[in-house]
Amino acid sequence: MIIKQYTLGPIENNNYLVVDETTKDAALIDATGMSDELVKDVENLNCNVRYILLTHGHFDHITGVQELKEYFGAKVLMNELDMDWVKNINLVLPQFDISPVEIPVIDEFINDGDKIKIGGLIFKVITTPGHTKGGVCYLIENVLFSGDTLFRDCVGRCDLPGGNYKDIQKSIKEKLFTLPEDTIVYPGHGAPTSIGYEKEFNKEI
Ligand SMILES: [Zn+2]
Repeated sequence: MIIKQYTLGPIENNNYLVVDETTKDAALIDATGMSDELVKDVENLNCNVRYILLTHGHFDHITGVQELKEYFGAKVLMNELDMDWVKNINLVLPQFDISPVEIPVIDEFINDGDKIKIGGLIFKVITTPGHTKGGVCYLIENVLFSGDTLFRDCVGRCDLPGGNYKDIQKSIKEKLFTLPEDTIVYPGHGAPTSIGYEKEFNKEI
């Protein structure tokens, strides 16, 4: 498995390209926008981006969905509970001086425990409500893509519509902190971390 990280957009979102080295099938985790570096990597690795896996519906994670979906011919997956964020994206973008975009089309809704097969890789869906109602994490082997649920030393904000601090704590305690301590965590913003590190040092849980 190859993992490449791209920090994109005004809120410095981490998008990740995950590639099965054997079959060259790939997935993009979150879709902030088009990136020359991403396109170059996809060409150099000679991989096929089959899926765009969204961690949640906030604008900074989905602004690039349509452009990237069309460019790569990828299917877009997200939890249905965040659809209001998707439908209303153009109400939010002006506040950040971003031009309106085509409303992202979600091809399939995903739920807790779903397994998405991309080449030889299995992406397991873990629903983690709290930052948004429909937030999910994706677990592949010992790697977790945590979106805005869990960051290094903190957790995602819960003050936006649909956010709930008790829910995010429960999600993290019951569903993420029960993963092996050596699970590597790649968050939607900021530096990578691990489940073991967060269990020991994260003071927001
Ligand atoms: Zn968010």
